[in-house]
Amino acid sequence: MNLNIKDIFNKELPADLIKDNSRRQVIEACFSFVTPKHTAKPELLHVSSEMLENLGLSESDAESKDFLNVFTGNKVLEETNPYAMCYGGHQFGNWAGQLGDGRAINLFEVEHNKSNWQVQLKGAGETPYSRHADGLAVLRSSVREYLCSEAMFHLGVPTTRALSLALSGDNVLRDVMYDGNSAYEKGAIVCRTAETFLRFGSYQIFASRQDEINLKKLVDYTIKNHFTHIGEPSKEVYITFFKEVSERTLDMIIHWQRVGFVHGVMNTDNMSILGLTIDYGPYGWLEGYEYGWTPNTTDRQNKRYRYGNQPNIGLWNLIQLANAIYPLIDAAEPLEAILNQYKTDFEVKLLNMMCSKLGFLNKDENDQKLILELEDILHLTETDMTIFFRNLSNFEKEKPSEGLHVISDAFYKPDEVTGNIEKRWKSWFEEYAKRLRQESFSNDERKDKMNTINPKYVLRNYMAQLAIDDADNGDYKLIDELFNMLRKPYDEQPEYRKWFAKRPEWARHKVGCSMLSCSS
Ligand code: AMP
Ligand code: MG
Repeated sequence: MNLNIKDIFNKELPADLIKDNSRRQVIEACFSFVTPKHTAKPELLHVSSEMLENLGLSESDAESKDFLNVFTGNKVLEETNPYAMCYGGHQFGNWAGQLGDGRAINLFEVEHNKSNWQVQLKGAGETPYSRHADGLAVLRSSVREYLCSEAMFHLGVPTTRALSLALSGDNVLRDVMYDGNSAYEKGAIVCRTAETFLRFGSYQIFASRQDEINLKKLVDYTIKNHFTHIGEPSKEVYITFFKEVSERTLDMIIHWQRVGFVHGVMNTDNMSILGLTIDYGPYGWLEGYEYGWTPNTTDRQNKRYRYGNQPNIGLWNLIQLANAIYPLIDAAEPLEAILNQYKTDFEVKLLNMMCSKLGFLNKDENDQKLILELEDILHLTETDMTIFFRNLSNFEKEKPSEGLHVISDAFYKPDEVTGNIEKRWKSWFEEYAKRLRQESFSNDERKDKMNTINPKYVLRNYMAQLAIDDADNGDYKLIDELFNMLRKPYDEQPEYRKWFAKRPEWARHKVGCSMLSCSS
């Protein structure tokens, strides 16, 4: 196995001087050196061929003993020094102090084809940041992260990636519903990758400790290595840096809204500085189009991280980041201007995104109204978001009266689509048809365009759960099937037709399918 290792993070940034793996507050350091835990009987369950290629590895590398050992934490490559990163964060709106990589261990960085990758194991044992927990991960959450992060990439959503999914061979004790019923589950390790895993919380921790020296070191490092195009660090460049983080964060969230992804735990420690979707926990996919939906049972009271609130939370989190880097800039006004711009951009980008989902190329002053009415109707009766938008591409602008029929598969309770609801749908389709007739392209051209924006296949919550149930029983075929299908989410792929379907009724209230706890 020949990797072009190019460690920078653990060479250029300040390290924790204490070397033993005890749980503690780590000050004046960006990370702590730590060795992954030896696993009992590691077994690779799946490897992403795209990620292999990205790292400059081959399929035969993936079959080697070395690969298995390195990516399950049983072997540390020579001249590499694994480490856990220090960060803090606001959790559900409250400052939580130091968090850090409690169960993620970075192995090394790789440079290949002009791209840089930080390579990290999740679930590889305790670190100084493990607090009260064990540093391990279970199979179910690992399958979910592995499948979803690769699926998001193929959907065109900025995200961290995954190289491999493995069983550790160790058992892990978890209380899934936090109700006192703990049970042993299979332990697993995902090897995940990103240009960097730095988060808003990585900067916040220094600001919270009034450690401006290390705050500056980290921001300068980030700019020099990951925002090279904005120039050498200076007060002006720090402002540009914040502007770019703000834009990337918004773009990522607009993508989430487009595909119906609900992150579930948008704490500032889960916000990537690169605007990547990071830390796949109790996330979920919208089935019924519903602004108020969140998959996370821990958030069921306030629904802070519900679908419709994600753009606002992005802004809230950016305000926290602005506060953190403020000492380096010492002027509030430019930061406020960027935050205000987020609000304006948010309106514009959301509108553009919705227009693209509806197949509009040109702008029309009434689009906003048409979209608001559509969203209202979608909320009247449970309507599957993915099926609705995908099937909408079959609508013909000459035949508005057939609109309801075209999208009828999206209704969970077709019987409810009568009376006033039916009337509103019909008049919406009349307006939609009128609007489409203003555009010059044909139905077929519009369909092709819409089908590059509205995915046919997403990782529905119950699908991941089926793959997990099988995997728990030692059958990994479904992981492979879903993985392959989700590589081409916009293609028709008739062989996978059965996955282009509404959530089955049995999954409505099943744990893992409609609601998830943070236990992982
Ligand atoms: P999350 O909400 O999953 O992003 O996690 C919040 C914090 O808890 C992070 O610092 C994680 O590293 C830490 N954490 C979560 N699960 C574990 C675990 N099993 N062992 C140690 N730390 C954990
Ligand atoms: Mg996290």
